Amino acid sequence: MVSTDSPPEYIKYNINTEFINSIKVLVSKNKKFLFTYFKNSFIILMQIINGRFCNMCNWIGKIFLVRIFLIVLVTLSVFSTSASADYHSGTTSTGGHAKVNYSSSVATYGYTTIYNNAINRWNGISTKVSVKKASASYTTDTYYVGTTSVADRTGFMQPMGTRGSVCLDCTWTYTRIYLYDNNMDKFDYTSTNRTATAVHEIGHSLKLDHTPSSGSTSIMKQGRTTNTYPTIYDKGQLKAKWGN
Ligand SMILES: [Zn+2]
Repeated sequence: MVSTDSPPEYIKYNINTEFINSIKVLVSKNKKFLFTYFKNSFIILMQIINGRFCNMCNWIGKIFLVRIFLIVLVTLSVFSTSASADYHSGTTSTGGHAKVNYSSSVATYGYTTIYNNAINRWNGISTKVSVKKASASYTTDTYYVGTTSVADRTGFMQPMGTRGSVCLDCTWTYTRIYLYDNNMDKFDYTSTNRTATAVHEIGHSLKLDHTPSSGSTSIMKQGRTTNTYPTIYDKGQLKAKWGN
């Protein structure tokens, strides 16, 4: 089932998970601080239990304090251990400002509008990120459309260094994006599905990794998606990666 573009639907759905995610990011970014905070809190707690501060000397008070301490500790450790960022480390030669050139194959296969729409959906989210078309001599990323013999592959993003293909967490000199027309036809992809695939691949070119299938609503999940725009979660990941 593929819905038409309807951002309000998943914005409503995603408010709570987004709130939790913002706490996760906060915790994961402040692990050192939180560790020191809890270490010092634990020392003070032990001093209270040992009767150093006597206004809480009765046992009910002590047990109450220990319980509060443990509840807060467990809650935060659950958040911090489950905080996994869905983006790659390393940067790109333009630091999030992609300059894109379309291969002639894009027009040949009729994907110009699809790529144009997909590009626009990543602009205006963060001032540190932009995807703009540029003349060939000034480009970093190149977009292609073609066919593949790889079963079920509809799109692919290839990160490139100065000496060829590089790892996902490396610094990228430029990227290549491929959309595979034969497989999109095979799966009866609508232009909406094709746009969603292009948005997904461009997300990869901006260092975003796959969102686990159990994770928040996201254009970066694998498989045919009901989303055609970056979701609140995707926008949060993009900002966590590159800044606001
Ligand atoms: Zn992907």
